[in-house]
This record gives sequence, C-alpha cells and structure tokens, in this order.
Amino acid sequence: MNITGSCHCGELVFTARVDTEKVMVCHCTDCQVLSASAFRTVVMSEPNELTFNKGTPKEYIKIAESGNERAQGFCQNCGTAIYATSVGEGDRVYGIRVGCVDQKAELSPKIQIWCQSKVTWLNDINNMKAFSKTP
Ligand SMILES: [Zn+2]
Ligand SMILES: [Zn+2]
Repeated sequence: MNITGSCHCGELVFTARVDTEKVMVCHCTDCQVLSASAFRTVVMSEPNELTFNKGTPKEYIKIAESGNERAQGFCQNCGTAIYATSVGEGDRVYGIRVGCVDQKAELSPKIQIWCQSKVTWLNDINNMKAFSKTP
C-alpha cells in the first residue's frame, strides 16, 4: 500500500510503500521514552521504500541491549518521530510511525510486541471516562 505522511510542522513530507500485514503496537521501553507515550504503533515499509519529498530527517542512533544500532529519524524542527531503521550497508526496512501517516485509519495493528513492558492500565482503557474533546 502506498502511503503519505508528514511531521507536525510540515518541514518533512514523505511517501512510502508499506506492508499492511505488518502493523504492530510496540510496548518496548525505548518506544515509551522516544514517543513520550505508553506505546508506539509502527508499520513496516517494503525494503528501501521510504522517500522524503520535502526536508531531510535528523537521525539519532539508538543502541539496544543487544548492542544493535537503530537509526531513529525525526524532524529536527518539531521533533516528530518518523521512522526507525537499520544502520550501515544493505537494504533498509523502515519502521514508520503510524501517527504521522495520512492513511492511519486504514492501518490497524495486527500484533503487539514487547508486552513484558506494556503499561498495566491499558487493559482498562475502555472503562475510563471518555470525552470527544478536552472537557
Ligand atoms: Zn517538523
Ligand atoms: Zn519499541
């Protein structure tokens, strides 16, 4: 599926080709910190199928417990996280952050990963008082 997206300030605009079967919720602690939220929703691109039509993302290199490096691409103006990908030579598959994708309504997650660090309140979210806007 072809998608389009942008960061919050509009400095970065991109197109990508993604695998709609590979949409996932990641509960890992790195995603919690990097998104400053409870979890992150990601869709995997086809190899090398992410193109920036406007702007150039800044990359932060994260080092995992395993020692693996992952490049985290984000807007250096507004801070919106756009993707994560491998470092070095070879094909790049991009884990694109679904929140900045225009077609996000069509990208429902299929799996959850790193559930060992999933926040405990998430299972009760439907029991919370809910408002259409800030009350
Ligand atoms: Zn931006
Ligand atoms: Zn994660």
